[in-house]
Amino acid sequence: MIPFLDLNQINKPYLPAIEEASLRVLRSGWYILGNELKSFETAFANYCQVRYCIGVANGLDAIGLILRAYEFPEKSEIIVPANTYIASVLPVSYLNLIPVFVEPDPYSMLIDPAKIEEKITSETRAILCVDLYGRSCEMLEIAALAKKYNLKVITDAAQAHGAIYDGQKVGGIADATAFSFYPTKNLGALGDAGAITTNDPLLAERITYLRNYGSKERYKNEFQGVNSRLDEIQAAILNVKLPFLEAENARRRDIARRYLAEIKLPDLVLPPDDRIDQDAWHLFVVRHPDRAAFTGYLDQMGVQTNVHYPLPIHKQKAYATINHYNLPITEEIHQRVISLPLNPVLSDEEVSHIIETVNKYQQ
Ligand SMILES: *Cc1c(COP(=O)(O)O)cnc(C)c1O
Repeated sequence: MIPFLDLNQINKPYLPAIEEASLRVLRSGWYILGNELKSFETAFANYCQVRYCIGVANGLDAIGLILRAYEFPEKSEIIVPANTYIASVLPVSYLNLIPVFVEPDPYSMLIDPAKIEEKITSETRAILCVDLYGRSCEMLEIAALAKKYNLKVITDAAQAHGAIYDGQKVGGIADATAFSFYPTKNLGALGDAGAITTNDPLLAERITYLRNYGSKERYKNEFQGVNSRLDEIQAAILNVKLPFLEAENARRRDIARRYLAEIKLPDLVLPPDDRIDQDAWHLFVVRHPDRAAFTGYLDQMGVQTNVHYPLPIHKQKAYATINHYNLPITEEIHQRVISLPLNPVLSDEEVSHIIETVNKYQQ
């Protein structure tokens, strides 16, 4: 069986260095907001070619802290993609802001810039784009809209560490960008972790306080903040793994290139092939009209697949008040998508086996 993702194999090459780094933290007696976090924040900001990076507890908090820091009035409207993981939208809801869903471009499955403007009202304050599957949204078009209507651009790049758009790394493009280092991401910790990047010094400062109870100096609170800190052990582990992110993304791109060139199955829709060397290929998402039959076959043939995601946000029980929304492109995507295994530890032989197995499928 070729597993969809084997975290044991993913982390194996780094384990000796991770064990050493973790032990160093354990023995240091300093566990929260210390030098490991500082060096990771500097290194990740450099990697993203952006001025500031603030480590936080996870990707969900990263999105929520950006929204909090902007202090949008309650009931402000935030443009969000209808096709995304629920974590992109939950912070909008729990901060009493209103998510306004925009359908994806059927080709890229990312928010369709051509459908944003019709959703902008006098209450709109920001566009939250999600670089889903590892591909940057169309940031030139989105930035033009943001400028025209004086909106903030926030990116959820939880799946897009190292992706490039128009020559720029994701993380330095939007006004503020949220990252997750959940273990399965392109850059994964061995527990929960996240970060925010921005070029805006005031926003960076505010988020630095907000993640630590709103405190600038100990016991002096400027804001009603939260507890969302990236701990020293996870920061030390990320410091070990970050230098290898480029090489891992390069391996992902090589596999994506082979899938795109060699998979030939009439009914299967492949992901965009126009930016192979810019996309971060967190997932390789194909679409098939009979998903159950196709994934059943792959499973029988020893290829484990996954579905990102089976049920759209507006159809979730958690969003019962908007279950009636009609978002046909999003709904069709959720019925058809299948993620093939794509990760840096797949061997060339395994990639060949996956390609041959897919191509041999007969309805
Ligand atoms: C993983 C993910 C998140 C949430 O990150 P956590 O660290 O699990 O909170 C948010 N958005 C997207 C698109 C994700 O893939």
